[in-house]
Amino acid sequence: MNDVVVIGLGPAGLSAALRLAESGRRVLLVAKGEGGFQLSQGTIDVFGYAPQPVTDPLAAIGELTNGHPYAQLGAGRVRDAVSWLRDVLGEELLVGDPGRNYWLPTALGAMRPTALAQPSMVAAHQAASYAVVGFRQLKDYPTALLAGNLGCPFAWVDLPARREADSSALSYARALEDPAYAKQFSAAVAAAAPEGDVLLLPAMLGVRPGSWRRIADQVGRPIAEVPLQPPSVPGIRLHDALLARFKAAGGRVIIGSRVVGCRTDGDKVASVRLAVAGGTRDLRASDFVFAPGGFASGSIAVDSYGTITEPVFGLPLTATNAHELIGPDYWAPHPLFEVGVKVDDAGRARYDNLYLAGDIIAGAERWREKSGEGIAVATAFRAAESIMGGQA
Ligand SMILES: Cc1cc2nc3c(=O)[nH]c(=O)nc-3n(C[C@H](O)[C@H](O)[C@H](O)COP(=O)(O)OP(=O)(O)OC[C@H]3O[C@@H](n4cnc5c(N)ncnc54)[C@H](O)[C@@H]3O)c2cc1C
Repeated sequence: MNDVVVIGLGPAGLSAALRLAESGRRVLLVAKGEGGFQLSQGTIDVFGYAPQPVTDPLAAIGELTNGHPYAQLGAGRVRDAVSWLRDVLGEELLVGDPGRNYWLPTALGAMRPTALAQPSMVAAHQAASYAVVGFRQLKDYPTALLAGNLGCPFAWVDLPARREADSSALSYARALEDPAYAKQFSAAVAAAAPEGDVLLLPAMLGVRPGSWRRIADQVGRPIAEVPLQPPSVPGIRLHDALLARFKAAGGRVIIGSRVVGCRTDGDKVASVRLAVAGGTRDLRASDFVFAPGGFASGSIAVDSYGTITEPVFGLPLTATNAHELIGPDYWAPHPLFEVGVKVDDAGRARYDNLYLAGDIIAGAERWREKSGEGIAVATAFRAAESIMGGQA
């Protein structure tokens, strides 16, 4: 039997699974699909807006009141969890400090706050000036708009990733793992790049961590990767590294199957039911970590009458009627996104051996606060620590 079944392959599920597997637990990770890393910038946002821009996420977390997931965790646990993730992935993948935000450019030329970033990005923090290089075959990098909003010069390079009209960031990233192509790419960038202290390139400088350094050396100037829309190459780097470490620690994975229900035994979950071809399969474990995301991943359902439910465990939610929880326009607050499950100090809900992590936990509008990844990692860490403490 498994010690722990972890449900979800986003930042929360991967973090909890890795922490538990590295502590020697037999962990099975199950997910119906990929999680939030492939959609993200490949950074770890801890707390960006409160709602005013945040310089020190830990200090701002210390000022939050009850109801927010961070208020229950406290700044110390958030610091420990986010630092653990940075250290476990290593400085080739994540650098920074949960107590200090970088300000890095988006592909539209706005500056956004984030606590941990990839080393290929951080030269853009507080640079005196920028220059932008775009690629004619890459439609996802709005080069002129980015440069216009930053007030800096730009230039184009005409170099496809493969023999095709348009190239995606992922096809460039894969092509750049070939040293001969990387050399050709770097020479073209160096020849085209206008004046500016830091050269902003689309976040596609290799699928593997560290590949960007070869390109930076060949270009011979400070460069910074700017995240693009999904699929995110920097997000894939984080996802792949966490999953590889989890497997190396003995973890097992089932991807592509949905958990559809559970069997309980008194105050405990005995097993979860996995949908498989032709029926269901029970997965038994001593403990369960439920990290299925929030509305965006379909883990919280709203039917045509506006009734909100959590369908797998039937967990109680902080609201059950979606009417009036959606703001009048896009930028208005949408309390619907704060709906979720309340947990106890160990991270449990309803059952003694069911621990929650990530977006399923109530009380934050993550995308607006830029807090989703920090909450995911910190609540995953708490879930793992609770389980490890309970078995010690
Ligand atoms: C449009 C948008 C923009 C955002 N922008 C930001 C931002 O800028 N900064 C920030 O910090 N956060 C942002 N967020 C939030 C961030 O994406 C989430 O907080 C983060 O991904 C949560 O991680 P998670 O692991 O809890 O869930 P997810 O990353 O959603 O992963 C959930 C996992 O669970 C699996 N799953 C779900 N249900 C089941 C089931 N029944 N059975 C099996 N598997 C299941 C899914 O397949 C997936 O693998 C944004 C979110 C959205 C929607």
